[in-house]
Formats: sequence, C-alpha cells, structure tokens
Amino acid sequence: MTIPPDHPRYRSLLVRERLAGYVRDGVVSPEGLIAHGRGEAFDYLIGETTTKSAALAEKTAAAMLRSARHPVISVNGNTAALAAREIAGLQQASGAIVEVNLFHRTEERVQKISRLLEANGVTVLSGKAERILPLSHDRALSYPEGTGNADVILVPLEDGDRCEALRTMGKTVIAIDLNPLSRTARMASLTVVDEVTRALPMITGFFSTLQEQEIEMLKEAPDNRYFLTEAMIEMNRRLAHALD
Ligand code: ATP
Repeated sequence: MTIPPDHPRYRSLLVRERLAGYVRDGVVSPEGLIAHGRGEAFDYLIGETTTKSAALAEKTAAAMLRSARHPVISVNGNTAALAAREIAGLQQASGAIVEVNLFHRTEERVQKISRLLEANGVTVLSGKAERILPLSHDRALSYPEGTGNADVILVPLEDGDRCEALRTMGKTVIAIDLNPLSRTARMASLTVVDEVTRALPMITGFFSTLQEQEIEMLKEAPDNRYFLTEAMIEMNRRLAHALD
C-alpha cells in the first residue's frame, strides 16, 4: 500500500512501514514494534516536539559526552532502523565508540544491524562480546573495549535492567526515552525525554556550540528528577487542555 502524503499521520505511518520492513529483514525484532508503539503513545502526550526541558537535557548530554574519557553509544535494532544516519552524525561529532547491544541477540542480527549502521556512515566496534554486565540473559554481553571501558554511555531506547546494571558498574548513563515513567528513565544518570530522531541531532548540534564554561556547569550531577518531572508536567498540561 502507498501511504498518501496528505494523510494527517503520514510520517508516523511511514515510520511504521519502515520498521515493519526491518522486521522482515531481521534487523528489528517483532517485540521492537511493541516498544515503538509505547514510544509513539508517549510522543503523542508530549506533543511530538522537543520541549524546553528536553532541549536542556540534550545540551547536558552533549556536555557529558564531550567531557567523557571513553564515550560509548549503545545501539539496538530499533535505534539502528530509525536513526542510523543520526548515530553517524553524533559519532562524527563526539568520536564515541558505537557498539551493538541486543535484548533478542543472535550473531546474525548483530551483523545485520552493524551492516545497516555502516551503510549509513557509522564505524561499528567489532570483536568478541563477553559477559560484562551483571545480568543473567544475553544483555550481559558487551565488548571490553566498548561498554567495558566506558565512563559515559548513551543508550537510546534501553531496557530498565540493563540501565540499572550499567549504573551498578559505576557508569554514567544517558538514556533517550519518551516514557518518563520507565525504569530506564528513572535509573539513568540523565534521561532525554524526546523522540530518538529528534534527540540525536540536537545533541550533535550542541557539540559545536557549547562553551567550556557551560560544559563545566552542565556536566556535574545532572538533575534527572527535574527532567522527568518537567516532562510529566508538560504531558499533564497537554492532557488538561486536550479538548479545548
Ligand atoms: P523499562 O524496562 O525501562 O521500564 P520498557 O519495558 O518500557 O522499559 P522497552 O520496551 O525495553 O522498555 O523499551 C522501549 C522504551 O523506549 C519505551 O519506554 C518507549 O517509550 C521508548 N521508545 C520507543 N520508541 C522510541 C523513540 N522512537 N524515541 C524515544 N523513545 C522511544
């Protein structure tokens, strides 16, 4: 079916169609579509836009990545399918290592996602994954030169237990998650409550404009609770006026 460009939900339908295609290709897991649906619902509530507090979180994320000793971006199937080019842009600006980490992990999927990222200009860390995180399932698998050595790790669309495990290991975790109530959002050092394809270019953009003084101020102890509260206030405000 061809989606008519004048459909009011054209972009959303296009993204769904793209993700469904990536399920057929084995890049996105069927479960990934459900996760996307949850994200869409929260995006509706936030107004499908980058709020003021999300923009500040994005600036803070740029400051944290810029002052990191060994920054890493952890990419899963949904992130690769939605934002491979945006990941390439952020890697170029930040010099971060990009590694693939999957909940539904098979070597074949890791390879497919790596190829998709590389086709969009990302340099993907390869090597032998080891059980690095204190988790029982395959989300424990990561790369010693990537997550293993990271001080700051950006995890777009992460799940809560992996985020918690990374914090237990003493890592600074930046999450991108539209759901301010998720375990990931609450466990992260900093959560950007924004859609991943909007959030990544914003973080990349702040790389070139941030002043040293600003970096020093922003990077210390980000107030994650503030960013989550602001997102919920915005969602509440929109709900209260939804039928006006
Ligand atoms: P948790 O374990 O953290 O409580 P969960 O079970 O909700 O999380 P998953 O299903 O693993 O988490 O991950 C999906 C998360 O990613 C959801 O919180 C969803 O809101 C968010 N999400 C999905 N698509 C996007 C997107 N395009 N941009 C930003 N966030 C998204």
